[in-house]
Amino acid sequence: MNQLAKSSRILIFEGITLEPFSLACNMVGFCSKCDLDLESLAYHSTESRWLVCAHCKNEHLILMCYDRQWNWLGDYDLEIYTEEVSISSIAKEKLEAVFTQAEIRDMIACQKGLPYTRQNLYRARAKYEKFEKLFGIKIDV
Ligand SMILES: [Zn+2]
Repeated sequence: MNQLAKSSRILIFEGITLEPFSLACNMVGFCSKCDLDLESLAYHSTESRWLVCAHCKNEHLILMCYDRQWNWLGDYDLEIYTEEVSISSIAKEKLEAVFTQAEIRDMIACQKGLPYTRQNLYRARAKYEKFEKLFGIKIDV
């Protein structure tokens, strides 16, 4: 199964890892399952092909494959996977620049499935965007 990473939009196509060259959101056709509009999620390329990942509002996913002249070659199945960033693997200095000790402790606890204080996690979540802007690391806990 071809897989598209939820946040980085890196595509694993036939076992090859491809970085997206565009995340443009375009109307790219109609969903073969439900006839709704298909919107592109990411564009990738290999030496001989263009690959367009797209989805419809019903979350049907499709990977459309074209040759270098944009002749349609076929559609493939696609699934989204979420890359999990382990909080414990992020440098403490980075975390401490944005989060309090209590927030860091509870983010780690939540990720490990241990008891945590909701208030701290809510406060931490409000800062994820700031953290991503500063360090380019997307946290999703
Ligand atoms: Zn659909």
